Amino acid sequence: MTKPRLQNFINGAPLANDSGETIDVINPATGEVIYEIEVADDKVKTAAIESAKEGFKAWAGMTAMERSRILLKVVALLREKNDELAGYEVLDTGKPMQEANCVDVVTGADAIEFFANLAPTQVGQQQDLGGDFYYTRKEPLGICAGIGAWNYPIQIACWKSAPALAAGNVMIFKPSEETPRGAIELAKVYIEAGVPAGVFNVILGDGDVGQWLTNNPDIEKVSFTGEVGTGKKVMQASAATLKDVTMELGGKSPLIVFEDADVSQAVSAAMLGNFYTQGEVCTNCTRVFVHESQYKAFMKELVERTEQNIKAGDPMDLEVNFGAMISKKHQYLVMSYIEKGKAEGATLVTGGNTMTPAGAEGGYFVEPTIFTDCTDDMTIVKEEIFGPVMSVLTFKDEAEVVRRANDTSLGLAAGLMTKDITRAHRVIHQLEAGICWINTWGASPAEMPVGGYKLSGVGRENGIETLDHYTQTKSVYIGMVDLEAPF
Ligand code: NDP
Repeated sequence: MTKPRLQNFINGAPLANDSGETIDVINPATGEVIYEIEVADDKVKTAAIESAKEGFKAWAGMTAMERSRILLKVVALLREKNDELAGYEVLDTGKPMQEANCVDVVTGADAIEFFANLAPTQVGQQQDLGGDFYYTRKEPLGICAGIGAWNYPIQIACWKSAPALAAGNVMIFKPSEETPRGAIELAKVYIEAGVPAGVFNVILGDGDVGQWLTNNPDIEKVSFTGEVGTGKKVMQASAATLKDVTMELGGKSPLIVFEDADVSQAVSAAMLGNFYTQGEVCTNCTRVFVHESQYKAFMKELVERTEQNIKAGDPMDLEVNFGAMISKKHQYLVMSYIEKGKAEGATLVTGGNTMTPAGAEGGYFVEPTIFTDCTDDMTIVKEEIFGPVMSVLTFKDEAEVVRRANDTSLGLAAGLMTKDITRAHRVIHQLEAGICWINTWGASPAEMPVGGYKLSGVGRENGIETLDHYTQTKSVYIGMVDLEAPF
């Protein structure tokens, strides 16, 4: 049977490559090839840049109100197509439909709505200089590149393109080769809503295609989501042409459960922050610090709920709340971390195996896994696993747990559970992380800026401030009197 084939999406339409090179895309829940993509070759890359230049002339030439109106049509279309698009995300990522149909497209559309509404509020300044005066213009940067990870493909494409396009830029987006469909579907929606051709192009391929983007002198900014190591390479390559960069990278985030916390709520936070999207979330609280007085009650409820309430299976089944790892390779990597956890002396309380759930026997599943008796120097406590593996640690006092929570080179997220309002703020202010939650975990609305401290990132996505990162300020000085020159 011939596989369905998806092509690069350039200048408002699919564009065939000349090289004939393709990559298979696999449904992680079945292990079956679902389609193939054409890898961008020189012809496609050149067309992507040429069409982006034309698209920029049309898009930046519109008023912000005009752009805003069109982007709001994009939002309406995304919401109309929610279930269809969520279905594609499930097939590409292996995550449960019950998540994808209420989070992935929804939060993507929210970001476009937020920035569409902000676009016309961007204004310059003018100041009198005693006759002469100056004014400033907020101008778009030009062609921006978006490079995405595989865990939230369409959401990442929306979060990156929303502020870029709202500010009048155009974007060439490279999705992960493992989950390319969401970005292509988004590109079609942009065209259907009336966004000019070339404003959002999608180029397909692996890291080499990403590297081509970061090396390209026509690209002014790179917004990247992925691993710390790749982020460093992207930043290094971008430096050659002094591109602006936004980096959304990995995490090893702490959740602190104080002695006065509501145990059930703390268990909910820990489970959401380790098992939602089968653990493949950058902000996950994979280091759960529980006050020793709460430890027994916390563990009892955590293990009960993990063993009773998690249902793996065909992710399209709306009863299923736990999906497959993105690939066989990643399943193997997660399992190798579990083995390291055991070898280094952590106690495996539940999980720890691969799974073949009914209805998804060929999928790359790993059981929800909990380790206790963990110490700060263990590999599973130090390194990002990006799978459903929770490490539980205990602590005695506040100063100790703050020190240990901060003892990492990463700083994406952090959170705590307590009824003591002053302690909550006192501790949160000391935690070295860009995204913090008190008595909750995981919400990331478009209004709230997100990004990492330390090696977890550079710059922010979402929130008002992000729009500024997609503009440059032009100052215009106006002479009102005759110019005096000493020559
Ligand atoms: P990778 O870093 O492996 O890949 C990210 C993207 O970069 C992919 O599209 C990849 O292409 C591309 N790429 C690979 N090499 C290069 C290169 N040299 N130059 C330019 N682009 C390149 O990350 P994963 O896809 O494995 O995603 C998981 C990681 O993403 C985790 O560390 C996670 O924490 C992080 N993440 C961070 C988020 C945040 O907001 N902070 C959100 C989501 C994930 P390809 O894969 O096709 O080879």
